Amino acid sequence: MSVLAGVKDISDGSMVYPGGIVLARAVSVVGFKDSGKTRVVVALVGELVGRGFRVGTLKHTAESVLLDTPGKDSWRHREAGSVATGILHGRGSALFLDRVLTVREAVVRLGELDFVVTEGFKSVGSMAKLIVPRVEGEVGELSNGLEIGIVDVDGRGVRGGGGVQVIPLGDAGGLADVVEERAFPVLPGLDCRGCEFDSCLEFGRALLAGEAELGACVGFGSGFSLRVDGEEVALGPSVQDVTRSVVLDLLSSFEGVGRLGRVEISFEVGDGV
Ligand code: SF4
Repeated sequence: MSVLAGVKDISDGSMVYPGGIVLARAVSVVGFKDSGKTRVVVALVGELVGRGFRVGTLKHTAESVLLDTPGKDSWRHREAGSVATGILHGRGSALFLDRVLTVREAVVRLGELDFVVTEGFKSVGSMAKLIVPRVEGEVGELSNGLEIGIVDVDGRGVRGGGGVQVIPLGDAGGLADVVEERAFPVLPGLDCRGCEFDSCLEFGRALLAGEAELGACVGFGSGFSLRVDGEEVALGPSVQDVTRSVVLDLLSSFEGVGRLGRVEISFEVGDGV
């Protein structure tokens, strides 16, 4: 069974997921420091782009890096207290946010893409991964059951296991083949059990084993989310359905509310103490 079961292919080639959401498939390139992750990302992105795909990348770093240039206008905006600042110019855009996004939130903000290749998200359990070990023993440390390949950089002689193939870094075509075949969109990370698995990680493992269909994840389709103080609260499908029904019933009783698209509700509760 394909990992993309439950997904509709529409005429322009875009992938549409249950609920009409278009979301890139993602793969995380993981390894310890100086393992060669960036070389793997560069080789994979180049090959996928050469195949005609629109590809984005996302990098995690534990290092403290300066994202803006001290003294520049955007820096001064943030010094003044802005928590979200943008720079737009003729060739691109940059956004500076004073909060850490989830991988899924970041992927959504990258726009409509075919694939997102991420680097450095070792502990994320919601997307397929390519492991880049420095030595054989690191494969087990980096494995969580979502690996779709192990990349051998510079002939380190690492071996696969459990049906996961080893792909030499020089075989960019092989890397892209396994990503095209097995990568799936970043799972919502709600651990809501709507798919009848205990967590997104378990659902992802079942997806790769051909024991689940992507369409069984309710987190893609409903577009329903509840955030408290900026943090997403995991809700099961029945709670989502009941809450959505109550709100829609209420809205239907209001005069002047026409055809509904996106509904947002936001309110303050005391001072949060
Ligand atoms: S249904 Fe819930 S637990 Fe299952 S994959 Fe989707 S978000 Fe994760």
